[in-house]
Amino acid sequence: MNNFNFLWLFDPSVQPQEYLKMVKQLQFQWVVANPHILQNPAFIPSVKEKDLSLGLNFPVFCPQDFLTKHPECYGLSSKGLKTQQDWLHFACPENPDFLEYQKKDLRNWLERAEPKLVSLDFIRHFIFWEKVPLNMPPQDMNEGCYCPRCMDSLAKAFGENLRQLSPHQLKEHHGKELAQFRKRRITQVAKELSGIIKEWDSQVPVMMKIIPWLEEEHQGARSSIAGQDLESIKDFIDIFSIMSFLHIRQESPEKMKQLAQEVRDITGKKITLTLQSRSIYGEPELDDERFVEYWESLKEAGPLGFNVFDYNSLCDAPERLKLLQALINE
Ligand SMILES: [Zn+2]
Repeated sequence: MNNFNFLWLFDPSVQPQEYLKMVKQLQFQWVVANPHILQNPAFIPSVKEKDLSLGLNFPVFCPQDFLTKHPECYGLSSKGLKTQQDWLHFACPENPDFLEYQKKDLRNWLERAEPKLVSLDFIRHFIFWEKVPLNMPPQDMNEGCYCPRCMDSLAKAFGENLRQLSPHQLKEHHGKELAQFRKRRITQVAKELSGIIKEWDSQVPVMMKIIPWLEEEHQGARSSIAGQDLESIKDFIDIFSIMSFLHIRQESPEKMKQLAQEVRDITGKKITLTLQSRSIYGEPELDDERFVEYWESLKEAGPLGFNVFDYNSLCDAPERLKLLQALINE
């Protein structure tokens, strides 16, 4: 598991050889990719030919292609909308048919890609955390799911009086029950998917991507809203991948270390961190000085490895790529 660093690629139109050229330039030994990238017939053979280790990044509740073909699988957000925002398409986590489909798809990709690691991505309830302003309380967030199926399960588990309540009333007066309900579900799904992976090959590490919020932030929303309860989920996960895109919300480099420490303290597991290479959502430009500060903090956090977001943004910024190479070679 040494040198577990990799470069994200999400654009399926990129030629595998072009992408792998940059991977080699950065001296990375891993490629971790989503099914929509791996389905290019040239991709997996090219990775193996270059003697790189291949990991599968499996988007548990966010398989966009599937959801656009099966709109009945979307959830319902706290604002009464379909659980979709921008590029983020989310399924209802309580839908058993959807979960069966995902299990089948996971098994299929295990056979097809023979990954040396599986990353469980979007394993949470719907929340576009990147666009949540600092300090926003859960009551104001557009999150979910509150569809009739979820409300039915919630009422059965925690009392019929909850069935008719609005998302706002639930969060205001029954936050604890809602949190328990979501945490149980996400942990159960992690357990089942991790079981499938370990059954396929018990040596393959299971990684889970988690939102970059500390436990006390947003009134505990990492676990209560997203359902990512690290304490209970840790038994099924080998590595926690913290999506430390801190520049999106203009957060301090120091937070990289706080997140790493907290996740280690809670789980006792290895962690990896994300290095955002450029601005993503129109936030102020990520300048060299700040970029280096994030890098230094990441290094001090002592992760198992780091992942860089992403190939396309570095393609457009040759100077940033050069800087990153220099930092890696230091
Ligand atoms: Zn639902």
